[in-house]
Amino acid sequence: MLLKRGVWRNRFLLGLPVAVLPAIVATAIASPSATAAPVDQQVATGSSIGTEGLEPGLALAYTMAQNQAEAEGVDLSITSGYRTPEQQEELWLDGLRTYGSPDVARRWVLPPAESTHVSGKAIDVGPRGGAQWLEVNGNQWGLCRMYENEWWHFELATLPGTACPPLRADASER
Ligand SMILES: [Zn+2]
Repeated sequence: MLLKRGVWRNRFLLGLPVAVLPAIVATAIASPSATAAPVDQQVATGSSIGTEGLEPGLALAYTMAQNQAEAEGVDLSITSGYRTPEQQEELWLDGLRTYGSPDVARRWVLPPAESTHVSGKAIDVGPRGGAQWLEVNGNQWGLCRMYENEWWHFELATLPGTACPPLRADASER
């Protein structure tokens, strides 16, 4: 099943009810055979690099946001998306070495069991101008900046079109 990017954009501009989104995501990731799944998924979620391994809803929301950014001439890309537990463990150990204690390290990096990058629910984006654009516009697709100390980290944190929750100081604040 092929879905062109234009189809997504047109449907979105027509004012798709929020409740329909999950059904569309489910349809988009459905595929005729197991072997075709990765390619279909890539096409359905757009051509952006780095959405592999993300939850389908986040991949779709980001792809729609990126299409809009592109249409407005804004440079936006994922700098870090899904991470394996092993990759996150390395980052966590790095953080412990850098910051000296778990309490301080947790402000910047979380262990694998707690990281939303490992659960496919977070993206880091860049460059800074693109991140600023996403901070202003991302809530149209439910995307929100989460932490005061990380301008690059976004998650699905609100219903599309509604306000994002207040920023938390850092990742150690639950
Ligand atoms: Zn992050």
